[in-house]
Amino acid sequence: MAAVIEIHDLHKTYHIGREMAVHALRGVSLSFDAGGFAAIMGASGSGKSTMLNILGCLDPPSQGRYLLNDADVARFDHERLAAVRNSEIGFVFQSFNLLSRTTALENIELPLMYNRSGLRMREIRARAMAALERVGLADRADHHPSQLSGGQQQRVALARALVNEPAVLLADEPTGNLDSHTTLEIMSVFQELNDQGILIIMVTHEPDVGAFTRRIIEMRDGRVIRDAPVARPVRAAEALENLPPESAAAP
Ligand code: ADP
Ligand code: MG
Repeated sequence: MAAVIEIHDLHKTYHIGREMAVHALRGVSLSFDAGGFAAIMGASGSGKSTMLNILGCLDPPSQGRYLLNDADVARFDHERLAAVRNSEIGFVFQSFNLLSRTTALENIELPLMYNRSGLRMREIRARAMAALERVGLADRADHHPSQLSGGQQQRVALARALVNEPAVLLADEPTGNLDSHTTLEIMSVFQELNDQGILIIMVTHEPDVGAFTRRIIEMRDGRVIRDAPVARPVRAAEALENLPPESAAAP
């Protein structure tokens, strides 16, 4: 199968003032096929977010090659990079990053307004609503983020990441702020999306969460120290059913 993402000998060095250099990545080579679901794990400071930000074209590497669908990302101009970030790759973060003064639906409409597809407002609204349905939150369309639980806010962020139907979803500690029940709900949505064929690369430092993916990549000090398939990924939907009722309370 053709790789969607291929990185070769990626390095990232952050310079702080003139004296300090932090080598966040020290030569990482990886390849991700369509339809995969990988967890990037490792201690805090091991370079996980740095790598995800490079994969998401949010930040360039200091050295090395990044091929996205066989195209060299280093050659993309600003416009092309913006298009990748808006439509080809979806991003979700630990802190949801929703606009607080707009409704769930309006948050999801934003990427559609920026993609210059010439869509009419009615079509934009319909697509945003469909994305909200996909994450099981259609009944909260008019709520503002402050009126939603953490898990619901992350679902809105997920719908926003999906609304332009990207082939790749990148997630940086998406369950980092969520309790265990809500974590299972979000992981169950991730698994459904992956079943539909979307490539997911997720940073997490929780081993429990890694068990829901198909592949675990472990980093230490800016290098990959382990890369192995998950023999039998745990199905989050089944784990949810088996939860004792007392832990099923909403946060
Ligand atoms: P992780 O996500 O695994 O916790 P990061 O990729 O955030 O790790 O960070 C890797 C290393 O790079 C850390 O030592 C961190 O302090 C450093 N780092 C990350 N971002 C920056 C930045 N913008 N400027 C300087 N140093 C940074
Ligand atoms: Mg991080």
